This record gives sequence, C-alpha cells and structure tokens, in this order.
Amino acid sequence: MQEQLRKSDRLNLIGELAAGIAHEIRNPMTALKGFIQLLEPSIKAQHSMYYDVITSELARMDSIINEFLILAKPQETKFQEKDICQIMRETVELLSPQAVLYNVQFHTHYEDQLPYVYCEPNQLKKVFINLIKNAIEVMPNGGEITIAINSIKDQYIVISIRDEGTGIPKDKIKKLGEPFYTTKEKGTGLGLMVSYRIIEEHNGSMEVESEEGIGTLFKIRIPLNHLTKK
Ligand code: ADP
Ligand code: MG
Repeated sequence: MQEQLRKSDRLNLIGELAAGIAHEIRNPMTALKGFIQLLEPSIKAQHSMYYDVITSELARMDSIINEFLILAKPQETKFQEKDICQIMRETVELLSPQAVLYNVQFHTHYEDQLPYVYCEPNQLKKVFINLIKNAIEVMPNGGEITIAINSIKDQYIVISIRDEGTGIPKDKIKKLGEPFYTTKEKGTGLGLMVSYRIIEEHNGSMEVESEEGIGTLFKIRIPLNHLTKK
C-alpha cells in the first residue's frame, strides 16, 4: 500500500513537469526534423551514417515526448461499461504480427459471463499493449504468453498476463514504473509509468511477481464497484 502511495505522488509531480517540458521541446524538435529533411541530399552524400543516427535519435526523442504528452494530458477520456475481454481480444489481434516475429504464442482464458467493467477502453487497451509488448520483448527466442481474465466475487476483475521471459531481479522490481527505467537499448522506460497511472485512474492496482529465468506475471485488479464511477 505504501509503495502505491509513493508511486502516485511521484506520478502527479511527473505529470505536471511533463506538460511543460513536452510542449517546450516539441516546437524546436519540429524545426530540427524539418531542416534535417531539407539537408538530406547533401548530408547523405558525405555522411550517410551521421544522417541515419540523427534521424533515428530524433525519432526516439519523438516517441519519448509523445509518451510524456499522453501521461501529462490523457486524451479526452470517456468512461463507459465495457466488455474487457473484447478489449483484450482486439489487443491480442493487434500484436499478433509482432508475436509471430518473435515466435511467441498466446494462450487466453476468459471466464464466462464476466460482468462489464466501467472503464476507459482506449486507455485500458494502452495498458494491455504496453504489458504484452514487454512480455514479447523479453522472449527473443519465443515462448508463451498466458492471458487470463476472471472476476472475484463480483467485486473485482483480475487481468493477468504471464510470460516465460528473462524475469526481473528482485532489487529491480521497485524500479518498475519509474520514469526512464529501462533495460532495453531502444526502450523509453515510460510504458509502465503510463500503465500504472491509467490503472490508478480506474481505482485499480497492478502487482508484479517475477522470477529470474522463469518469467513474470503482471496482475491488474479493477474494482467493479459502480459507486466509484467518475
Ligand atoms: P521499456 O519497455 O521502454 O523499457 P517499460 O516501462 O515498458 O519501458 O518497462 C521498463 C522496464 O521494466 C523494461 O525495460 C524491463 O527491464 C522491465 N520489464 C517490464 N516488463 C517486463 C517483463 N514482462 N519481463 C521482464 N522485464 C520487464
Ligand atoms: Mg515497454
């Protein structure tokens, strides 16, 4: 519980900072991208490698800023009663090509007749995409991702996403959700931060269980208490 409180304080502060920084950086970035494009023919002829580095680093800045903006200013949200399994099915379909590429198989178990959940479907989808992408990325040699959705006593919906990847060292678990914490060469370290934030907006929680060399389980709980409607 304490850990969650700490995270939410941190998220608020980051959100405020993000709004300012992202906007300030975006305009000069657009100018840079434009001019670099204009210079393409001349730079490419002599310094093709530099050009590639510049454009790929610019693209990386772009993705960091975009994720920051999502965090600072969630798009217009529309909470509604939704079938969570449907959102998950769409997510799995969306990520299937990437899974095939990594030789990853999905196993899904959806409880029958699950109650609808009061949620922001696009935001929840974003969380599912982040978690499943992470799961795929830690299994470069393939494996299985097991996704289950159940209800507990009609009070909670529990969504679990389990992978057979590298796992997370015990001392690193507390770093999950910290801005820019990434172990990937091309990572932003923002996906989990955004995900924690979204689940919090659903009055839910997200837990992680992990064992190195065995895999990781992310477990999201969302209350079905309709009194919590926003
Ligand atoms: P990114 O994917 O850009 O690195 P995330 O916020 O999505 O940023 O994840 C942060 C870090 O948490 C990852 O770099 C990785 O080290 C760790 N992580 C997240 N999900 C998993 C997972 N399923 N298995 C192992 N490590 C994970
Ligand atoms: Mg990620």
